Amino acid sequence: MKVTTADHAAARQEPALAGDIPSLDRLLRDDALAALRAEYGTTQVTAALRTRLDALREAALAGTLARDGLRAEAVAEAVAEALHKASQPRLRSVFNLTGTVLHTNLGRALLPDAALQSVMQALTSPVALEYDLERGGRGDRDDLVEGLLCELTGAEAATVVNNNAAAVLLMLNSLANRREVLVSRGELVEIGGAFRIPDIMKRAGAKLVEVGTTNRTHAADYTGAIGARSAMLMKVHCSNYAISGFTSSVDAPALSAIARGHGLPLGVDLGSGSLIDPARWGLPHEPTVRETIEAGADLVTFSGDKLLGGPQAGLIVGRADLIAKIRRNPLKRALRVGKLTLAALEPVLALYRAPEQLPERLTTLRLLLRPQAAMQAQAQRLAPPLQDALGEAWAIATAPMASQIGSGAMPVEALPSWGLMLHFKGKGSRGRALERLAKALRDLPRPVIGRIADDALWLDLRCLEEADEADFATQLKALRA
Ligand SMILES: *Cc1c(COP(=O)(O)O)cnc(C)c1O
Repeated sequence: MKVTTADHAAARQEPALAGDIPSLDRLLRDDALAALRAEYGTTQVTAALRTRLDALREAALAGTLARDGLRAEAVAEAVAEALHKASQPRLRSVFNLTGTVLHTNLGRALLPDAALQSVMQALTSPVALEYDLERGGRGDRDDLVEGLLCELTGAEAATVVNNNAAAVLLMLNSLANRREVLVSRGELVEIGGAFRIPDIMKRAGAKLVEVGTTNRTHAADYTGAIGARSAMLMKVHCSNYAISGFTSSVDAPALSAIARGHGLPLGVDLGSGSLIDPARWGLPHEPTVRETIEAGADLVTFSGDKLLGGPQAGLIVGRADLIAKIRRNPLKRALRVGKLTLAALEPVLALYRAPEQLPERLTTLRLLLRPQAAMQAQAQRLAPPLQDALGEAWAIATAPMASQIGSGAMPVEALPSWGLMLHFKGKGSRGRALERLAKALRDLPRPVIGRIADDALWLDLRCLEEADEADFATQLKALRA
């Protein structure tokens, strides 16, 4: 029950009784609620009204019911507020100022404009999802992107599932059910959010054979472990960690030679899976899918929403006979993607046909390549309005920062960025003040997500593109309260 101070003040003068509360039916018929019924429908309005009347009855029993709150307009206002609050979507748009560009908890890659039109169309119009327009019969949804994927990676065939975890599960189950898969101990990774190679292996029905040691695995470790029950060799890209120092691993070409010599396929989980080496733009090197296919991998799996910059999806490319086997697996049907994913994926893949235009057109790449000077200028523009909103208790500094690509891509490399650093100068606990401010930022109409570290709140501006800056600055005024 919500009783306001105004309720109390009014009640002191003239407390109303339960019997004074108008009936549900009478209120529903009142003009004051007509607009709400039109907007939310009678069912929702009735339920909200009932809740409000319960609260009024409780206030009456407590002797704190204000007469003024019984007017139809007052009841309608309270009901409108409750309905508005309840109808706010849970999936809110936020400002990602964490410094992590591909932030899994904030939805990873932002889709480029090229995908919008296609997704909008697939939302409201029938689309040729599994329909062969050439022959006029049933088609395969993989056909929509298989050609592009083969063109961009040099693979013979390709298929698409829900995410890369599903791609790995499906690859293992299709090729190694009840048989053994050899993986280096140095590659038994856990990717955030409960994706662990050994667990996926178990669920796929495959038996993991660990090869070598954590820091060093040699060719002989693989050959020594191959036996009658071996189904495949697998290599996992170290997405979110690096092993350094006294290390040794068997690279894809050498591993492929071993696999071939024993008549076994080699599967590579590339994780991020770049279609073009980001080193081309001065970013840290990432092995590309094409490179990995050329190195002799029979199957490669990778994510659609990491460095590729598309929708959540798991892509599997490689040998035609193995992809055909994967397609025949009933699990493929269970893990298939929807039309919205394919509607977004096709135009994103098509952008890769013009690599020289990618920095402009692929949002993820544009963010990763934002010039530090642009972020610095932005920090200088935003510092005064932020200072204004926060007042004297806070010191605001513009400062160089280090962004992360995120989602496990290139964990060791940081991208020089710029942002705002907020230090508490007021009285009381600094830790609590920082938490309070972080909460206030999250409570803004479009929540701002920063990061607390080293006794300061950090707002990394890499992902605040100029087009969004005015919206960001405008809502800062709400912090003053
Ligand atoms: C990210 C990642 C996965 C999981 O991919 P999702 O698309 O998040 O399911 C699997 N393997 C590696 C190596 C990864 O980096």
